[in-house]
Amino acid sequence: MTHTSLSFAAALERWLSHIDRLAPETVSLDESLGCILAADLSSDVDVSPFDNSAMDGFALHAEDIETASPVTPVDLKVVTCIAAGDYWEGNLQSGQAARIMTGAPVPAGANTVVKVEDTVDANNEQVARFIASSPRGLNIRLKGEEVKMGERVLTSGEYITPAAVGLLAATGYAQVPVYQKPTVAIISTGEELIPVSDTPTQGKIRNTNSHSLAAQVRAAGASARQYASIPDTLEDTIAAFKQAAAECDLIISSGGVSVGDFDFVEEAVQLLGDLHFSTVNMRPGKPQTTGMIGGVPFFGLPGNPASAYLGFELFVRPAILKMAGHTQLKRPVQTATLSHDIKKRPGLRYFMRGKVDSTSTVWATGNQSSALLGSLHEANCLLVLPEKDTHLKAGTTIKCVRLDIAEGVKL
Ligand code: AMP
Ligand code: MG
Repeated sequence: MTHTSLSFAAALERWLSHIDRLAPETVSLDESLGCILAADLSSDVDVSPFDNSAMDGFALHAEDIETASPVTPVDLKVVTCIAAGDYWEGNLQSGQAARIMTGAPVPAGANTVVKVEDTVDANNEQVARFIASSPRGLNIRLKGEEVKMGERVLTSGEYITPAAVGLLAATGYAQVPVYQKPTVAIISTGEELIPVSDTPTQGKIRNTNSHSLAAQVRAAGASARQYASIPDTLEDTIAAFKQAAAECDLIISSGGVSVGDFDFVEEAVQLLGDLHFSTVNMRPGKPQTTGMIGGVPFFGLPGNPASAYLGFELFVRPAILKMAGHTQLKRPVQTATLSHDIKKRPGLRYFMRGKVDSTSTVWATGNQSSALLGSLHEANCLLVLPEKDTHLKAGTTIKCVRLDIAEGVKL
């Protein structure tokens, strides 16, 4: 089984079948952003807890100013001034007005609020002058308008947006039950790798993947743990994978997955755990090595930066989302018209970096070498070129995976 080359669809299905949602945990409200809620939550209060003014102005009886007009103004006696945070115990009588600020409780008896801009100066601090009527309920925000006491605010499985954080704050949730987000180990293999801060000497290159993969992990909402790059020996590979399995929820590696003399990833996974598959009929990134090490899912990405990036996007990102409790794991796919010819080998599914515009015209974004990231940086989609095709002509309708739109969004 291990050396059977799988179709992309079969590989993705098999990989995700080994991925489970992590257990729930409780986090502080401010840490809950971007998590998936793990319980139904209801409010302990009415929000707002009381009828309150939506404007700075005057609370009064609407009946008192029904006849008000610029030629027949109505004067009411101002009996109090209620600021946000105050509470006036009185009962507003007919003929009276209460000066009131935005957010202050509307006093008993009042049934409308006239904003200050709609009044005229009566040249008397104790009097408010009105030149138009005001409908009942105007500028009054009702108690329980957002949510009533005992009512559900958010449902288990919902994604916590910044607005949801605000709702949870208003309804008393200083702590929030959410599904844990995975901590992802990032292990780069390769004798040639040096830290970003160093300048390459003969034969050496900077470690690109550790950083682009960590960025992808964080963009998927998870935490990245970057390990020092490892030399190409079986012993070093085994030691690094063992340590990562003890410390993280998911392990990804880059490089060392092909058939070179110094590629030890597959062997290390076989020795430490179970290997699931090691090749996928796709380009870029035919060697994609997956398995389990000590109960922790493992994904060995290719070393070429663009292949590693795409392997992450297509396999690892949905796994991270699944672990974190998401149920929408697929980026939106749209159809678009190819603006140029493309030749390909049959039998492989190609994912080309491309750009789709507002007229649904799509083109490849430059050099598709698996070593180059520039054409990925330019891209907003992946052109999906089916296994069977060999020559796609300009004008062909193809599918594109939108990299710039979140999973589950309907186009
Ligand atoms: P490998 O899969 O280990 O044979 O690597 C394939 C190619 O990707 C080689 O040219 C490597 O030098 C390059 N490569 C591997 N790992 C990295 C990395 N972390 N950053 C940048 N390039 C890498
Ligand atoms: Mg290598």
